[in-house]
Amino acid sequence: MKFFILSIMVFLMTTSTPFAQGYWQQHVDYKMDIDFDAKNHQFSGKQTLVYSNNSPDTLKKVYYHLYYNAFQPNSMMYWKTLSVPDPDPRFPLMGQMDKLKKDEIGYQKVATLTQDGKDLECHVSYTTLEVKLADPIPPGGSTTFEMEFNAQVPLQIRRTGRDSFDGVDYSMTQWFPKMAEYDESGWHADPYVAREFHAPWGNYEVNITIDKDYVLAGTGIVQNPNEVGYGYEDEGVNVSYPSDKLTWKFKAENVHDFAWAADTEYVQNTIQTPNGGPLIRIFSIDEEETILWRTELAPQAAKIFESIEKNFGKYGWSQYSIIQGGDGGMEYPMATLIINRKRTGVRSLSSLTGTLVHEALHSWYQGMLATNESYFAWMDEGFTTYAEDIILNEIRDWGQDWPAVGGSNEHYINWAKTGLEEPACTHADHFITNSGYGRSAYVKGGVALNQLSYIIGDQTMRAGLIEYRNEWGFKHPTPNDFIRLMEKKSDLELHWFFDEWIHTTNTIDYGIKSVEKNRKTTEVTLSKIGRIPMPLDIVVTKKDGSQFLYYIPIGVMRGEKPNETDLERTILPDWYWTHPEYSFTIDLPKSDIKKIEIDETQRMADLDRTNNVFSAE
Ligand SMILES: [Zn+2]
Repeated sequence: MKFFILSIMVFLMTTSTPFAQGYWQQHVDYKMDIDFDAKNHQFSGKQTLVYSNNSPDTLKKVYYHLYYNAFQPNSMMYWKTLSVPDPDPRFPLMGQMDKLKKDEIGYQKVATLTQDGKDLECHVSYTTLEVKLADPIPPGGSTTFEMEFNAQVPLQIRRTGRDSFDGVDYSMTQWFPKMAEYDESGWHADPYVAREFHAPWGNYEVNITIDKDYVLAGTGIVQNPNEVGYGYEDEGVNVSYPSDKLTWKFKAENVHDFAWAADTEYVQNTIQTPNGGPLIRIFSIDEEETILWRTELAPQAAKIFESIEKNFGKYGWSQYSIIQGGDGGMEYPMATLIINRKRTGVRSLSSLTGTLVHEALHSWYQGMLATNESYFAWMDEGFTTYAEDIILNEIRDWGQDWPAVGGSNEHYINWAKTGLEEPACTHADHFITNSGYGRSAYVKGGVALNQLSYIIGDQTMRAGLIEYRNEWGFKHPTPNDFIRLMEKKSDLELHWFFDEWIHTTNTIDYGIKSVEKNRKTTEVTLSKIGRIPMPLDIVVTKKDGSQFLYYIPIGVMRGEKPNETDLERTILPDWYWTHPEYSFTIDLPKSDIKKIEIDETQRMADLDRTNNVFSAE
């Protein structure tokens, strides 16, 4: 009897939670006052964080990231770098972190932390601050954390730090104690090993007090341009500085990170994106080497944003800053840090533009959609890679029908053939090799969308991606959210594809096994060689040059895409994935047939295309 009552109670408790159904996400509001000591590369900060718990759970603990603690000898990041068989040669300091001197390391030290005025018990585990709350935060509740902290900016080792390779003084990313994300799969307080960032959305008010010689650029909008002289000098505003230091006041709304950079020689040029797009600010060091930044990069940037908005939906803020800094190209909300000089030399306009297209697109897939990249790296870098070729095709007039296919599919196929591939669902920190991560996230993630375009049809795909931005922007979608949206848009089942593509290293390979002559007809037999099933488009070309199309559905998709061609299409019976072969009859004598080809568009990432074509001798 007791057991019976208990079972009923458990049943009620697990089904009656008011928030159990429907979407929720946590919310943060930061206010930070930073006093920066450029002489010692250190700063102190006061942070007020209002945390809103929109989850159905009562929180008894919270976690902050202290990313700078990774930049030390013997850190997890150091050992992770040593453990990878193919370390990235672009960042030599990563493998030399054991030699960092005391004044070259990074750290974030929390001096005091209170919750609604009560002192809190904290424990630092590497880059994670574990905090036991004084008062649990109930579902729907909010609380205020007040923190005082001190930090030292490390040498530029990877992404963040001081004295970049091309001479930028401060590239300030991952620089403040930052609340970790809590979502329906729990806390994401992953230790930092130089890979992904994930955090709740919120509003930031950041006041940075620094020597008046510095020009600052970053996420958000400067609130006191008249005081700091921010781009207003040309308009005749005279700025007089009352002391040696100045306070830059930034505000950013609805972002999940805040990055900034500072240099004494930054100059700024701006351009307005047409058709209501963002105002673009470009910050570069005032020297001969960066002349392109001030002459030709601005019109390119406006073109890029105009093209992305047209193809992938509206940008979410009123401004975007392109900032010389960092150690490659890296995306942050409302900003990117890009280097001007690689170790191989100064970058051309084409190289800068290529990087900018990629980083600007991250404003969509990392800035506004912001999937958890530790788990779903393919949804950010991959979608960005796919979209990048479509934008470059447009702004560079390549005139390709399938711009996102060529390079990406080939790159993926070559990698898949090595046998070194790891499943794309691998946690981003845990890939065995850097190449494995890169190929899975960037290449295979991009090819995932090529395959989807082939499976559901390109028009549905394009419309679906705009809807994805509108429906899931600022909501941290998961793979299932994306797949469900595309299922609804196409009226097809699609999980069968992602199950294979993301969770396995199975591959696609179809071939034409035989083409046999009957009296008045032709019998075609196809083989399924790879494990991944795909619906097939098969174009038949007659000797008179005319063409027609067959389409073979696969059952589990529960339908077919619209005919994407002008050719007459015949839909054949389903080819079930268990069956290694499939035959169909063409109502023509073999002597009339010139060519039969599986997937003439070559969008399908078929590992061996040599068996896709039958040609009459
Ligand atoms: Zn990227």
